[in-house]
Amino acid sequence: MSSRRRFIKQSGLASLGLIAAGQSSQATPKKHKSKKVTRPLAIATWKNGVQANVAAWDVLSKGGRALDAVEQGVKVVEADPNDMTVGYGGRPDRDGIVTLDACIMDETGNAGSVCALENIKHPISVARRVMEKTPHVMLAGDGALQFAKEEGFAEENLLTDKAKKEFQEWRKTSDYKPLINIENHDTIGMLALDAQGNISGACTTSGLAYKMHGRVGDSPIIGAGMYCDNEVGGAVATGMGELVMKTLGSYLVVELMNQGMSPQKAVEEAIARIVKKIPGYQDFQIGYLAINKAGEVGAYSLHKGFNYALYANGENQLIDSSYYLK
Ligand code: ASP
Repeated sequence: MSSRRRFIKQSGLASLGLIAAGQSSQATPKKHKSKKVTRPLAIATWKNGVQANVAAWDVLSKGGRALDAVEQGVKVVEADPNDMTVGYGGRPDRDGIVTLDACIMDETGNAGSVCALENIKHPISVARRVMEKTPHVMLAGDGALQFAKEEGFAEENLLTDKAKKEFQEWRKTSDYKPLINIENHDTIGMLALDAQGNISGACTTSGLAYKMHGRVGDSPIIGAGMYCDNEVGGAVATGMGELVMKTLGSYLVVELMNQGMSPQKAVEEAIARIVKKIPGYQDFQIGYLAINKAGEVGAYSLHKGFNYALYANGENQLIDSSYYLK
């Protein structure tokens, strides 16, 4: 038996507990202001970030590790059938198959990811196992599924009746034209800064609805959908993944912070790169979130309509991001 295989076998079965969403405060979104907050903090993309933050805060407020906080946080959304762009209940590709992408990164710079994974409700936890139990960073498709099963993850049908109905409706025209903000994305990207000052990040999605079978977006790509450097900060992306991949957005944001930019300036510059380099960018939405070691926050998007949840100083708020195209 190879050492990797033995390693995997020895790991035992995964526990697949779902996290209760807790209460969320989905009041009218606040206007974005780049303000310094004390640690710990959790920040997550879109409205569903509010419920994710509740689970993350549960870990952080007890002195827990940022890595556990981001995993537990995004799992809430992965399990939610009403979020149709992440995990269970996610919209399928154009062949009617739900395929999931996820990545995770810890404070040591370790990273794990899965892409085009089918039938597993919590791709983020599989990504974490890839990070912790294999010598690799990324597993794809059948290989990722095989690994997940070896790790004790149960296979289940992720296509809900609601998603199936919508898909059947879509098939009547098969018109593929993502619409800004309602273009079937709501990926959850989450960053946490724990009480020890460590940063971790997670990103998980079913990707673009009705994508080509086999299409992989930015979300599981370390440096595109998410990147953390514990000496500097972290960033996550959401929106049309192709634009983020072409500019390696999350790495760019963290590197700009490394060069001395504030999180807010860095996310604005990452959007500026898209504007400068990608013709037709106006047709798509992109949103970035960033944090640095000091607990400063940045948020910026191409279009109006991107929001995020920030849990800091004991308060969980939904906040409207500032944006480029006025
Ligand atoms: N970035 C994701 C993708 O392109 C979509 C999203 O953010 O919802 O797959």
